Amino acid sequence: MKIEKVVVIGSGTMGSGIAAHLCNANVPVTLLDLKTEISEKARERIYKSRPPLLTDKTKIDNIKVGNINDNFDVVKDADWVVEAVVERIDIKHNIYEKIFKNRKKGAIVSSNTSSIPIKVLSEKLSQEEKKDFCITHFFNPVRYMGLLEIVKNENNDLNKINSLKKFCEIELGKGAIVCNDTPGFLGNRIGVYAMQVAMTEAFKMKLSIEEADAVFGRPMGIPKTGVFGLYDLIGIDLMADVLKSFIKELSENDPFQIVAKEIPLVKKLIETGYTGRKGKGGFYRMNKENNKKILEAINLNTGEYFPSKKIDMGIETVDLNTLINRKDKYGEYSWAVISKIIKYASSLVPGITDKFNDIDEAMRLGFNWAMGPFEMLKSIGVKNFFNRIDDFKNNKFLENLSKTKDENFYGERQLYTDIVTLGKIKPKAIKVDKNKSADIYRFNDFNIVEFTTKACALDYDSMDALKNATDKPLIIINESMQFSAGVNLSYTMNFAEKGDMKSIEKFIKYFQETCKHLKYSDYPVISAPSGLVLGGGEEVAIQSNFVVSHTNIVMGLVETLVGLVPAGGGCKEVLWRWLQTEEAKKDPDFAPLKVFNIIGYATTATSPIEAEPLKFLRPEDKKIMNRNSLFEASRKIIDENKDFKSPQNCTFNLSGKPLKEKMIKILEKLYNEKVIMDHGMQVGKELANVLSGGDTNINKTLTEDDLYKLELDSFMRLIETKETQERIKYTLKTGKPLIN
Ligand code: NAD
Repeated sequence: MKIEKVVVIGSGTMGSGIAAHLCNANVPVTLLDLKTEISEKARERIYKSRPPLLTDKTKIDNIKVGNINDNFDVVKDADWVVEAVVERIDIKHNIYEKIFKNRKKGAIVSSNTSSIPIKVLSEKLSQEEKKDFCITHFFNPVRYMGLLEIVKNENNDLNKINSLKKFCEIELGKGAIVCNDTPGFLGNRIGVYAMQVAMTEAFKMKLSIEEADAVFGRPMGIPKTGVFGLYDLIGIDLMADVLKSFIKELSENDPFQIVAKEIPLVKKLIETGYTGRKGKGGFYRMNKENNKKILEAINLNTGEYFPSKKIDMGIETVDLNTLINRKDKYGEYSWAVISKIIKYASSLVPGITDKFNDIDEAMRLGFNWAMGPFEMLKSIGVKNFFNRIDDFKNNKFLENLSKTKDENFYGERQLYTDIVTLGKIKPKAIKVDKNKSADIYRFNDFNIVEFTTKACALDYDSMDALKNATDKPLIIINESMQFSAGVNLSYTMNFAEKGDMKSIEKFIKYFQETCKHLKYSDYPVISAPSGLVLGGGEEVAIQSNFVVSHTNIVMGLVETLVGLVPAGGGCKEVLWRWLQTEEAKKDPDFAPLKVFNIIGYATTATSPIEAEPLKFLRPEDKKIMNRNSLFEASRKIIDENKDFKSPQNCTFNLSGKPLKEKMIKILEKLYNEKVIMDHGMQVGKELANVLSGGDTNINKTLTEDDLYKLELDSFMRLIETKETQERIKYTLKTGKPLIN
């Protein structure tokens, strides 16, 4: 079965997201709604979306729009028809009647419903029609969420379900998990239960919402929005509807019922318009006092708002055992929440799936958890868990495990996919070394480095791991969300605050030395980025010999935002790439001026397609839709490069002073227009110094080391200034840039 043409019916949040993502995969799609104006508006929304739903704006040409009365004929040609209309069964039934009257024989029809079972959706279909009908449950935002649940039942043609899964996996890049027709499927059943447990336990233990979010967040390997933050993000009213649907669909004695009961405070919030971020606020709200925005948090007992207090748990890496064994309320809370999640998830095996593994993967892909409930159990340790758990009657999974006490119960990971993923390889590889910032694995005849810090921020140890791993071909890749958000700013700031500039200089020099070493090592070095590839992260990627990039990246050299210049070879490498263009051969200042713009404005690309024209990536760098495939694609490069030779050294002829003056003219104009301020000017001048070649002239040939030196000197001059330090501190505190 080939899927070459798709029709999506319903052009709201999900329909437009699905259509946009099909465009990204170059699959022509027609988007239908009640009126053409509605689908036309959806098309405009897709075009302007931020973060962008399209990997490249020209992809929009793959979408045609229309309405269900005049343009329904398109269904006749479609290989797959996706229904994404409002969650109303009468409307969905009417649409199916129309689709099945018109569809091509054998075409797949699916619904994006999040709560209506297949047996209800398909009750009016013939047996033959039921074979081709399933649920494809995409998550919002479709481009960025990894999970797709394909829900089937006993009536389905399994070959067809499997080819749909393959298509969604390979072409759309989704982690496609096939599951049974049970309420909430896999992800939402556990994910919403977990949220409810985290919320009800916070009420019970009288925790503040900031405290609950600080625990049910990074320390547990869960996104930092926590539970109350996530409630606000999803919409408190929408969550109430979701709960109502679970209460209705699940049996009376399902433990979900206990945590899904209506909470008076939540009811009051909805009634008063506090529905979350889209409303007046929710558990958190922004208040304005004396023209200053203040984030406030609700008191769960009184319902009053107070200025929000940041809780710093001081935890950088996930260590569940330490967390649950803390002798304070946070230890108690985390155990209560984690143990209940493990108990509930395991009670659903084999009912909702016989592969407990799939539940974990659904939580990773759909909720961005670092580990699912069963991995949590593994990480706590089977013996430790049973020493502490109270009763688990009628829970077959736990009853069995309590008998075997098998610490290795978990087995292989990611069974839902045939792709050889990094997650599958890691347990089979030898961990040859490890420091506090990275792990080095050896698999067959190559090495793998995985950064392990928060947002994979880089420090001396990250560089050490990279440098030590080049005795074999090397793949730099990781399972966590980001490739690297850049150099660890707190690490750098710690030295700066002590006035220890020598240590900063030592670190930057080592960073440069490592990147140079990566570029010129005897074996190929491959970076396989996904997520954030910023600053130092981009410098590592760009100085690797090969790049295999996921389609969802945010890539750029953004150092100027924190008052610095790229100093790990970023300026040098992008400049060299631009110097190879035809324009640069005609005009020696063309390339430096281009790069001055790109780095000066901290330009970022939101996909590999956008990264190429900036020369952050080269045309030959691989672009991969499925994140799971990054590892296989990297490994293929190693196989294809048995006779690898490291690249030739590059040299630079730059104009020096006259070019620097041109750049300063640009800065002065921006300064007069108030686009930049005093320190912006100073940062710009340092960047100009690097990119013009410093004290040089066009006839003098500079080496890479000369450029590294220029980068280092500018970096050091800037980090010593009060203004750069203020920028860094501000960004560390707020996540935003300071303009000074
Ligand atoms: P939405 O309200 O944003 O969009 C629904 C669209 O359907 C609207 O544009 C509406 O005009 C159109 N529509 C209504 N009746 C129609 C008809 N008879 N023919 C054609 N179009 C019609 O809804 P949504 O959030 O995109 O949800 C769509 C489906 O996806 C629902 O089943 C929902 O449960 C499910 N879902 C939503 C999310 C989410 O996060 N929003 C996530 C997963 C699944």
